[in-house]
Amino acid sequence: MTTTTLPAAQDRPRTYLVRTLGCQMNVHDSEHMAGLLEELGLVAARPEDAAAERADVIVINTCAVRENAADRLYGNLGRLARLKRENPGMQIAVGGCLAQKDRAGIVERAPWVDVVFGTHNIDALPVLLERARHNARAEVEIAESLQVFPSTLPTRRESVYAGWVSISVGCNNTCTFCIVPHLRGKERDRRPGEILAEVGALVDEGAIEVTLLGQNVNSYGVEFGDRQAFAKLLRAVGAVPGIERVRFTSPHPAAFTDDVIEAMAATPTVMPQLHMPLQSGSDRILRAMRRSYRSTKFLGILERVRAAMPHAAITTDIIVGFPGETEEDFEQTLRVVEESRFSSAFTFQYSPRPGTPAYELEPLPKAVVQERYERLVELQERISLEENQAQVGRTVEVLVAEGEGRKDGESRRVSGRAADNRLVHLALPARLAGLGAEGGADPRLAEALDPELPRPGDLVEVEVTYGAPHHLVADSALQGRTYRVRRTRAGDAWAQRERVKAGLAQEEHSHGPTAVPGVPVPLGLPVVRTALA
Ligand code: SF4
Repeated sequence: MTTTTLPAAQDRPRTYLVRTLGCQMNVHDSEHMAGLLEELGLVAARPEDAAAERADVIVINTCAVRENAADRLYGNLGRLARLKRENPGMQIAVGGCLAQKDRAGIVERAPWVDVVFGTHNIDALPVLLERARHNARAEVEIAESLQVFPSTLPTRRESVYAGWVSISVGCNNTCTFCIVPHLRGKERDRRPGEILAEVGALVDEGAIEVTLLGQNVNSYGVEFGDRQAFAKLLRAVGAVPGIERVRFTSPHPAAFTDDVIEAMAATPTVMPQLHMPLQSGSDRILRAMRRSYRSTKFLGILERVRAAMPHAAITTDIIVGFPGETEEDFEQTLRVVEESRFSSAFTFQYSPRPGTPAYELEPLPKAVVQERYERLVELQERISLEENQAQVGRTVEVLVAEGEGRKDGESRRVSGRAADNRLVHLALPARLAGLGAEGGADPRLAEALDPELPRPGDLVEVEVTYGAPHHLVADSALQGRTYRVRRTRAGDAWAQRERVKAGLAQEEHSHGPTAVPGVPVPLGLPVVRTALA
């Protein structure tokens, strides 16, 4: 029977675990939370302990976008209540968008929670944990506006070969279904120099891929009055020595300008991939959603992107069942999806969120929404399959990843992302199949590394041999066709980190500049900012 009690804390460093719910912004914020806890002297719980939620500090970084977001949080907290009864020294902290929204309500509903902090004061986590432990009572601290730009906080990155870099936080749009502006505030832009410095630091640590993050990256620069700032930033980040792949999320069709398409096409390291949220194909519904573009403009952008980058993969977000959506409106969504030929789509049933302008609107019957949702998924599945089947025979370069291929073990493949961000499962040469499967030392960490054995972070050139709705298969190595491994600094960085974990090497890692809690770090905005400092 696996024990759930933790050994006494005084005999070992305290451990932590950060659980992330929601979007990429939250994934990156969780990396800052982990960095802050490591700066406090805690260490990440081992994978087997994390799986059993055995840690001294457990942080849940919440999302508020979906209806079931609250169910997921309180479901998690219910399970942790028992663990905390068995480990009274354990601390539970709740952060992120639902914490920003529900505040002290979380402690009222789950009094075993020790700390509640918001989206604007991630930096307060260490102090609040210490204070809660010292005063033996829950600490709830929510800031109404950003205290410290998250990117200046210590960061424990999930991956060594690819990293997230925030370019802005918050959003100036007011989409009527969306709670984000309410919880993350107005858009705040980082100065380009700071972003380039962070990308440079990431590359120095071994990364070859970076994803620029913002709720609405296209309006980047609005705060310092430069409408072309995002296109310039793409070119500049793409020119950072050592960077091989630049991605970004999320753009907004209303602010998506041709200079961005030109920058993507002209900068070889900017990947031919675009995630462009459509939400609805009906102009009437787009107006009701307060999404200031119409289907013609949306399709026009896709046409110009494909003219400039014929192999670009385009994905999207679509909401079905927005209040007032008629069958004709929904037919428009199906029409735009058919014309857009998305390689994949995140499809959602409308979820009323308290605090959003659309919350008071009369919802559609669940059965109607469900039936439309199924029709949309069926259509997109067909298109995704056709678009992926069209990739068969193409030569692609795959950035080998960790944990992308659930079936890799039994399928004797490794997985990763092609330049267009499609998921590829690729076969190793037959002579390598099963290498390392018998346990023992990881052959990818061997001094005399087999030249055809890729490590996470390395790049492998292969030929696509099969297209499925949600992934590609490249078994060209087994068919005597294209298979070339290109070693990278990212693969070296991955191997070094794994050797440290395995006790085969010493750690050479820093968490970036030290942030002094409570002391505002200059956000790098033009002098107008002095008012805030
Ligand atoms: S652009 Fe709209 S959907 Fe996206 S974060 Fe802003 S308000 Fe929400």
